[in-house]
Amino acid sequence: MITAAFQGSPGAFSDTVLRDHFGARGEDLETVPVPTLRDVAAALVTGRARYGIFPVESAIGGSYRDGVDPILHYELRPVREIYQRMDHRLLGVPGATLQGVRRVLANPMMIRECGRFLGSLAAAKVLPSTDGGSAAREVAELGDVTIAAIASSEAAALYGLVELAANIVDHPEAEARFLLVEAGRPGEITASETERRVTSVLFSTHNEQGALASCLGVLAGAGINLRRLESHPKPGRAWEYVFFADLEVGAADARLTDALAKLRAMSAEVRVIGSYDAGAPGEPRAKVRATSTNEPVEKKPAPLPASAAKNWPKAAKPTRPGGTRVPIGHVVVGGDAFVVIAGPCSVESREQVIATAEAVRSRGATLLRGGAFKPRTNPYAFQGMGWEGVDLLAEAGRITGMPTVSEVMCVDQVERMARSVDVLQIGARNMQNFDLLKAVGRASRPVLLKRGLSATIDELLAAAEYILAEGNPDVILCERGIRTFETATRNTLDLSAVPVLRERTHLPIMVDPSHGVGVRRWIRPLARAAKVVGAHGVLIEVHPNPAEAKSDADQALTFDDFEDIMRDLESLPSFEEG
Ligand code: PEP
Ligand code: MN
Repeated sequence: MITAAFQGSPGAFSDTVLRDHFGARGEDLETVPVPTLRDVAAALVTGRARYGIFPVESAIGGSYRDGVDPILHYELRPVREIYQRMDHRLLGVPGATLQGVRRVLANPMMIRECGRFLGSLAAAKVLPSTDGGSAAREVAELGDVTIAAIASSEAAALYGLVELAANIVDHPEAEARFLLVEAGRPGEITASETERRVTSVLFSTHNEQGALASCLGVLAGAGINLRRLESHPKPGRAWEYVFFADLEVGAADARLTDALAKLRAMSAEVRVIGSYDAGAPGEPRAKVRATSTNEPVEKKPAPLPASAAKNWPKAAKPTRPGGTRVPIGHVVVGGDAFVVIAGPCSVESREQVIATAEAVRSRGATLLRGGAFKPRTNPYAFQGMGWEGVDLLAEAGRITGMPTVSEVMCVDQVERMARSVDVLQIGARNMQNFDLLKAVGRASRPVLLKRGLSATIDELLAAAEYILAEGNPDVILCERGIRTFETATRNTLDLSAVPVLRERTHLPIMVDPSHGVGVRRWIRPLARAAKVVGAHGVLIEVHPNPAEAKSDADQALTFDDFEDIMRDLESLPSFEEG
């Protein structure tokens, strides 16, 4: 178990950065919340945490002095820089409205990043808070509809807040840079650092004309790119400054060794803060995580059929135990978590979808489903509300803070759907619509791929391969019942697919008992069985009034039925491999 300290309360951006970073590597992580950045430093020095995270810079807000200072003042060594997209939202308690907000709690950097948006809230006073997690928690505790917080969607989910506004950062691609730091003597260079590409140094100049220019000349002369230079007040000295420079060079590079020797001869002080792995600015968050989650670690290869690795190398690639984790907003599908996707078969009205969303969320579902384009056997049956339904589902998702899932039936729907919902569902009837698979493979949203009515497990994997091959690593498989001679149930839910898939692929596997059996009273035992057999979650259809459901009425559960299932599922232990 890795321990990592951050400033603030759970749900703070720093907390999310740590979870994304270590989660993508499949590491078990315990984050340690502490009140200040100095406490983060103290937690490292005293051994309370192995790593600490320091926000040091924002693409919009500039340098974050509070984050840099502890790194300069304590014996700490950066090990990696991490760039993270800032996806701030304005959050309030349920019932709050944007127009009604009179006070906004936000971290000072967030206040700078959301300057334009905050300026538009003329009636609201902005009050500083240490971090998004603490701001969100305070808003939840105060329970006042006039007080809002700037925080992440993770914080919204954690504290039961609703989103009053999204995309509130001044620049749509705003990101912040964090340093992951461990305790260690500053400047201590270890052998493993030789490959790293950023070295931070601190130097001070004599108070002479041209002194700084000469120092910079040394770096330029050595062919070292100076990525960033900042001046800081010298600790404990009035009106004296040190320069803090990030150099694009490895610590053991001879160019650096030479340049440091020259700098030492001409400066009052030169100190190497550390040499660390460079991050990648400009990468969307999901991609950063997803790429690394799919990175194969040939630890314990699953016993694959000989043809598998050859025919679908990306889907069958054995990976670390635990497999791929697909991030969807604050929810992660895969790994040890058991996730429940719930909602109506079809979106039928604003009231219906919002009522269902609220009901399933309050009973523990974390993802909201709802079909708007329905693949119906009979052309005269209800075909779904189309884009109006998609917008209603998205609205219900925003209100309840739940990421959303909806089916795309054809290639032209993919782009617009990807803008509105969080997960693109490929229905059973489209599992082998190869153009559609390629199109969702190029989309930047995770895909829920349902097994075809008469598809073998290997055909399901081959379909997943189409998506992966286009560059989308975030595929969730779904067993939803297959056609057999048996007619007692709507389909035959093939639960044996779960252990087989666990062996053959690193992708997460959900089970849909609703379509699997199609009969309300048998959904509960099969949902339980899905968890026991090792599914990463279940998909369940719920309706405020099942008798009136416009599609799949026989399998729709009431809110009470759903509550019983959730209670059952919670009481079952987590699946353990082996
Ligand atoms: C659905 O999820 O509502 C649906 C149509 O599922 P499937 O494609 O599995 O029949
Ligand atoms: Mn359905």
